Amino acid sequence: MIGQIIIIAVTAVALAQLNTLATSIYLHRTLAHRSLTLRPAADVLFRALLWLLTGGSRQQWVAVHRKHHTYTDRPGDPHSPLLLGFWKVQLWNIYYYILEARNPVTVRKFAPDLAPDAWERYVFSWGWVGLGLGTMLVGLAIGWWQGLVAMILHGILFMFVLAPLINGLGHWRGGQNFENTAYNSRVLAYVTGGESLHNNHHAFPRSPKFSLRRSELDPSWLAIRLLAAAKLALIVGVPIGALGGAAALQGADGPDVDG
Ligand SMILES: [Zn+2]
Ligand SMILES: [Zn+2]
Repeated sequence: MIGQIIIIAVTAVALAQLNTLATSIYLHRTLAHRSLTLRPAADVLFRALLWLLTGGSRQQWVAVHRKHHTYTDRPGDPHSPLLLGFWKVQLWNIYYYILEARNPVTVRKFAPDLAPDAWERYVFSWGWVGLGLGTMLVGLAIGWWQGLVAMILHGILFMFVLAPLINGLGHWRGGQNFENTAYNSRVLAYVTGGESLHNNHHAFPRSPKFSLRRSELDPSWLAIRLLAAAKLALIVGVPIGALGGAAALQGADGPDVDG
C-alpha cells in the first residue's frame, strides 16, 4: 500500500509540474505575450498536453491573463490580492479565473487573435473528453484507481496551490528588482516553472526569460532554450538582462530585497 501511495504522489507532483511548465511556456510566454513562437508540431503537442491535463481553453486563459496585465492591481484585474485580499485569491483563484474566462466580452476584447481554429472546434474544445482521456492514459500507466486519484491530486495541487501562489503571493509579498506591484520568490520559482519571478515578469512582460540575477532560476527558460536548440521554438522577445534588464537594475549585483 505504501508503494502505491508513493507512486500516486510522485505521479501527481510530476503531472502538476508538467502542467505548470506547459502553462508557463505555451499559454503564458508563447501565446499571451508572444515572446516566442513554436513550430506547428510543438504547438499542437503543447495544446494536446494541456487538453489532457486541464481541458481548458487557450483563448480564455490568454484573455484573462492579458486583462490582468492591463489592469494590474487596479479595478478590472481578475485576481488581484490587493483588491480582493490575499486569502480570497489563494483559496478561490480558480473561481475568479472561471468568472472572468466565461465573460465573452473579456475573451473577445483581449484575445481576438486566438479565435477557435479547426483543432479547437473538432478536438480541443471538448474539454471533458481531454480530461477523461488524460485520466485514462495515466490509469494505463499506473493502474485505474491510482490514475484517477493522481489526476485529482494533480488538479488540487495545480488549482489550489501552484496557480494561486503565482497570482496571490506574486502580488502580495516577496523580493523586488523593479518598481511595480508584483514580487519575486526565488524559492517558489523552482516549483512554479519560474513564474514566481513575477516582479521581473511585470517589468519585462515580453521577455521569454523571467530570471535576471545569478541567484534566480527560471526552469521554463531552460526548457525554452532546449526547444530552441531542437529548432522547435524561435525566441522572439528580448530576454531580460540581454538589453534593458541589467541597465534597469543598475548592475545585477546591486542590493536585493528578498522575501
Ligand atoms: Zn501579475
Ligand atoms: Zn504575463
